[in-house]
Amino acid sequence: MKKIRVNAGRPYDVVIGKGEINNLPSAINKLGKSGKIAVVTDRNVGGLYGEKITALLGGKDVCYVEIESGEEHKSMNTVADILEKLAENKLTRSDLIVALGGGIVGDVAGFAAACYLRGVDFVQVPTTLLAMVDSSVGGKTGVNLSAGKNLAGAFHQPRLVVCDEDFLATLPQEEFKNGMGEVIKYGCIADKNLLEKLSSPGGGLEEIIARCVEIKADFVAKDEFDNGERQKLNFGHTLGHAIEKASGFAVPHGQAVGIGMRVICRWAEERGLTPKGCADAIEALTDKFGMLKGENYRAEDLWNIAANDKKLKGKNISLVLLKELGSSYLYKTTIDALENS
Ligand code: ADP
Ligand code: ZN
Repeated sequence: MKKIRVNAGRPYDVVIGKGEINNLPSAINKLGKSGKIAVVTDRNVGGLYGEKITALLGGKDVCYVEIESGEEHKSMNTVADILEKLAENKLTRSDLIVALGGGIVGDVAGFAAACYLRGVDFVQVPTTLLAMVDSSVGGKTGVNLSAGKNLAGAFHQPRLVVCDEDFLATLPQEEFKNGMGEVIKYGCIADKNLLEKLSSPGGGLEEIIARCVEIKADFVAKDEFDNGERQKLNFGHTLGHAIEKASGFAVPHGQAVGIGMRVICRWAEERGLTPKGCADAIEALTDKFGMLKGENYRAEDLWNIAANDKKLKGKNISLVLLKELGSSYLYKTTIDALENS
């Protein structure tokens, strides 16, 4: 078992290990939570693990909320439904919400926790690789609006994150690849050793997850509200988001990030902004895990789509580029400059 402290405004632990879910009840007691618990999950995860978790948490005292799965349900309507259920079940500010699922459940349930009674505590129990290494840590919660993804949300840190590898036994291979996009990202921006570990044969998934969480925790501690250093976590994301959009969301997030990293790295190498060889290394790794190659995506065609991203303030844009494998920097430029580059 590995435990990683996230030094946010209110620090919390991320616990990583096989079978750790069984320690959830005692971990909740240690948080001083003895009241009601609302478990929020989606239909798929609920079907697989809902009964087990409610039984583990004490059966009848649990308010169980199941949402539909899929990006289209990461919406204000879903949050409203959850809030109504919490109120019907008379959850109070001293009670607790447990988000059991992938990134969508975590984002939606976390946002409901941020809003309900102006904020109640919540625990993240991520069940996808992507949620374990990325979205469950760091306190970003929110939903999509018609105008775009993640346009409404709040910073609301969990009290605890429990990553139990056993959940991954049922995770579809395509979802695993999605998580690998973010895993490779962490190696690229902050840890060459992690990339070497990924290139060599063998498992060691717990160690890999833990290393990603450590890197994320580091960035969150330095820049909880995403005004500087934390932006490096967006490596591959400016183009990744554009690729998601351009594909009508047929390319899922993690794989779009995988393509985004390849394309931005190649683009930066051609302009002398990243040393040669980095893009080849990323391509070898993403290929190794059977991720999409996205050969038809070119940076030149994507800047315009990227320009509509909420993260671009005006025409200025901060690109995350690699100094070398395992180290990154922010490159400030403008959309105009990029379109003419
Ligand atoms: P992400 O974590 O990549 O943001 P989602 O929250 O949309 O993505 O989860 C991806 C899909 O995988 C959803 O359909 C979800 O219901 C399903 N899922 C999540 N965890 C598991 C699991 N452990 N086993 C099987 N399916 C899962
Ligand atoms: Zn991401």
